[in-house]
Amino acid sequence: MTAKHILSLSNAEFKNFIDSIDVILSDCDGVLWKETEVIKNSPETVNKFKKLGKKFFYITNNNTKTRSEFVEKCKDLKYDATVDEIVCTSFLSAVYLKEKKFDKKAYIVGSVGIAKELETEGIKHCGVGPDIMEEDEVEMIKNFKPDPEVGAVIVGFDKHFSFPKLSKAATYLQDPSVYFIGTNCDTERPSPNTNKFPGTGCFIKIIEAASNRSAVMLGKPESFLSEYIIKKYDLNPRRTLMIGDNCDTDILLGKRCGFQTLLVLTGITTQNDIDIMNTSTTNSKDLIIPDYYANELGDVLKMMITSS
Ligand SMILES: [Mg+2]
Repeated sequence: MTAKHILSLSNAEFKNFIDSIDVILSDCDGVLWKETEVIKNSPETVNKFKKLGKKFFYITNNNTKTRSEFVEKCKDLKYDATVDEIVCTSFLSAVYLKEKKFDKKAYIVGSVGIAKELETEGIKHCGVGPDIMEEDEVEMIKNFKPDPEVGAVIVGFDKHFSFPKLSKAATYLQDPSVYFIGTNCDTERPSPNTNKFPGTGCFIKIIEAASNRSAVMLGKPESFLSEYIIKKYDLNPRRTLMIGDNCDTDILLGKRCGFQTLLVLTGITTQNDIDIMNTSTTNSKDLIIPDYYANELGDVLKMMITSS
């Protein structure tokens, strides 16, 4: 199969497609915005989806904010969202531990966003914020007194990542009964300019290497997230569309769940990547090819206007 450009559909084909969708799940960074900058025409497209009666949900692997903080970000960037329409991986960490009836303390290598979501569920935590080397590393290891209450290590994006944090996480993970949770596997984040920067997956990989354990991953494309959203939003997979800028997370999640899929080129995937997948002779089962692609989400708005 090949990915079809959404603008190459006839009006009748597009109408069939859009009429076959009840629910839209959209990635955020690289589709709706890039960090703090809105992607042009995306807010208008989301509004038009809603006018057509589609349910719209924001599904992000970002773990640096709480759901409430995402609602504020949406408002600032002209998207209308409620807490219940947002799934982020800081929130999923709290959902995961709540499901396990966790009553110990979580050591967080990550942001205050994860800490606040745990607090909402009454889960104790430690580790957030700077933890810098103030002594020789051998002294640091010798002087570290593990907190006996810690029963989980959660790893997200940590701008204060350091050797002490790495050592402490690896120490806690020596106990096999301690949960090891990775919020999401993304090793790169899109940025407003062309420089990509390291994502959460990098922090998880180094702690996996140091502890010789594998983290349970929560975000896209993992089943923890898909099972959660299918149940919470009562989704009919065939009438659900997944939109994203990343084949390895967004589109793969859509494929695994039987959703229809749309890739946009405003994030980390380029036209060159599409050309490679559309001309590849590799067994298509090994390639993650979206059903449709668009230069930007606004292309879908153009089609909704011309085909109505
Ligand atoms: Mg993205």
